Amino acid sequence: MHKSKKAEIAYIKGVGPKRAEAFEKLGLKYADDLFSVYPRDYLINSKIRSLVNYIDKNVLISGEIIEKYIPRWPNHPTKIAVYDGSASIECLVWGNTYYRDKQFKEGDKYLFWGKVSKKPFESNIQFDLRDHKKFEPGDEDLLKYPLIPVYILSGELKKTWIRPLNLTKIIFNALKNHSGELGELLSRKIITENNLMEHRLAVLRTHYPHSDEEIEQARQTLAFEELFYLQLAMALKRRSISDEESGISFEKVGENIGRMFNELLGFELTNAQKRVIKEIRSDMRSKKPMNRLLQGDVGSGKTIVAVFCMLIAIENGYQCAFMAPTEILAEQHMKTLSNYFESLGIKIDILTGGQKKKLREGILADIKSGKTNVVIGTHALIQDKVEFNSLGFIVIDEQHKFGVMQRARLRAKGLNPDVLVMTATPIPRTLSLTIYGDLDVSVINELPKNRKSIKTAIRKEEDRLKVYTFIRKEVSNGRQAYIVYPIIDDSEKLDLKSAVLHYEILSKEIYNDLKVGLIHGRMPWNEIDNTIELFKNGKLDILVSTTVIEVGIDIPNASIMLVEEAQRFGLSQLHQLRGRVGRGAEQSFCILMADKLSNLSTQRLKILEESTDGFVIAETDMKLRGPGEFFGTRQSGELKFTAADLAKDIVLVEKARESAFRLVEADPQLREKDNTVIRDHFGMYYKESVNLIKAG
Ligand code: ADP
Ligand code: MG
Repeated sequence: MHKSKKAEIAYIKGVGPKRAEAFEKLGLKYADDLFSVYPRDYLINSKIRSLVNYIDKNVLISGEIIEKYIPRWPNHPTKIAVYDGSASIECLVWGNTYYRDKQFKEGDKYLFWGKVSKKPFESNIQFDLRDHKKFEPGDEDLLKYPLIPVYILSGELKKTWIRPLNLTKIIFNALKNHSGELGELLSRKIITENNLMEHRLAVLRTHYPHSDEEIEQARQTLAFEELFYLQLAMALKRRSISDEESGISFEKVGENIGRMFNELLGFELTNAQKRVIKEIRSDMRSKKPMNRLLQGDVGSGKTIVAVFCMLIAIENGYQCAFMAPTEILAEQHMKTLSNYFESLGIKIDILTGGQKKKLREGILADIKSGKTNVVIGTHALIQDKVEFNSLGFIVIDEQHKFGVMQRARLRAKGLNPDVLVMTATPIPRTLSLTIYGDLDVSVINELPKNRKSIKTAIRKEEDRLKVYTFIRKEVSNGRQAYIVYPIIDDSEKLDLKSAVLHYEILSKEIYNDLKVGLIHGRMPWNEIDNTIELFKNGKLDILVSTTVIEVGIDIPNASIMLVEEAQRFGLSQLHQLRGRVGRGAEQSFCILMADKLSNLSTQRLKILEESTDGFVIAETDMKLRGPGEFFGTRQSGELKFTAADLAKDIVLVEKARESAFRLVEADPQLREKDNTVIRDHFGMYYKESVNLIKAG
């Protein structure tokens, strides 16, 4: 553990009270907090003569200005020649030339850093410095290091005129004086078994590396530590849940189930649905509380599976809660489910944020008294005011929109209820082990038979007329179309086509003989809902929309989707969007409009033309955009890794998971002497989960 008196950042050389305050706003108060700031990049410390070896790399040089050329035109770089005893080089420095002229004097010594570039067909290399920094001669002790880390810290710090190499110096000073205090984070056994460095060494090598190999080795150790603690939380949670014998055993399977499948359902379940229902039923029968993730592509029919499970829970005398990420979705589920439930005499209600107080109070009372069997809702469900009579079964739809804590809060409203979380976003394995590591997993890997696969095509601006004509032809054959735009108005600088503006053009000009509707995220939900209802009933031919239709909307007759500015979306998001069509028996089409494509974004979109497999798309998407972006902001709080990288660290994730699960198996309460260090650190990082050890 840490000594009681930790060194504060304020007292590190180069900081002072103003900067200390800015650091603290970033969550950095003590010297050792700085050690966990991971370098954004490393500069190669090079002599000018050797720069040819580092074309396109980030390099630091130090030298004397021997010549300068101030251009007469604005927007041209100032050219200065720098000599360091080995050779000289021309540096292009951008910015106000008047200021540059005053700043640079022949004979001055400077540190320069940036990318070395070589123009095609020119023999000279150049240093193109979009970003140059001056330092006092004393700062040249940075030149002792072969690789110099640079860090990105933003926020208030920017206002304190801290420069990138300034920050490096501050972190170096902190390390010099305080790294001795760094203790171990893992047990000796785990360090040896996984070939890790000691923690202190890994920290030093991260900030003072000698080679790329060292950086990577150290990163692996730090990444392992991060992943390990997350997996430990999973392991402890899984154990505390599965050890309880206090869950509900849903024994009875009554006549409602039979009626549901023989009279109400208009189709035969797919084999995958049957298999998954079997898996869930056996969990429900057992006395251990169920915690299961149901993954299945859009349209694979997860909702019916959930209905089946809820019927069992209700027949056994329990209430069910069904949580959806948006009001539209909650409304939509309400409609689908009440169709089934009401004909079976089951009382179903909905709770959303936008409801009138009076209405809401009535609903809350019915939930509390047990009169209501099934409650559908948004986050509104997890508020303190919501009390259940006998909550036994929970469904969480589109789980990736909710955090682990929200799941836990809903769970706490029942008596060890069974939990089924559903997601239509297939998730790469590193992510599912990280986010859902405490869950059992069922997968629906088959679409209902009546589905035709969706034909997907990328189209350019010059094809626009043809695309419009195509949509018109499909509409005249009785189909309906979605036209999706990335944002809702033209407030953004970029010339994005907005749904609102284009709705005007589409409805008044291009399709002025057709019925066109509009929905977007800033409309009141009942207006959205009314419009969707019109579309669903065939009163509209075309629905112009933003991504509010991304999840869940189910209109089988809508068979065409046109996505504008498709390159602005993530692949998984496009796949989700595309899932709004292909829900009926007709051939469906998804047209991705994208103009001025860079090679990378075309390649990206091509994946959608070629594959309809959500898992393939998800893997690619995560590799291209990184896990944070891929997963969306809501959950990125739980994914804040500094050294670990979920896009590439699958092996580390698996190793960390294995170590953590084995540890909990062998020493569930982390009582062994060697494990005290783990117990202490776990307590520090996962405050909410500490009682898991106690409960264990
Ligand atoms: P998702 O997995 O995306 O939530 P849904 O449960 O909303 O999918 O199902 C999509 C549509 O397919 C719904 O209209 C549903 O009634 C229908 N459906 C579900 N299962 C089957 C099946 N086995 N055969 C035919 N249609 C089905
Ligand atoms: Mg669904």
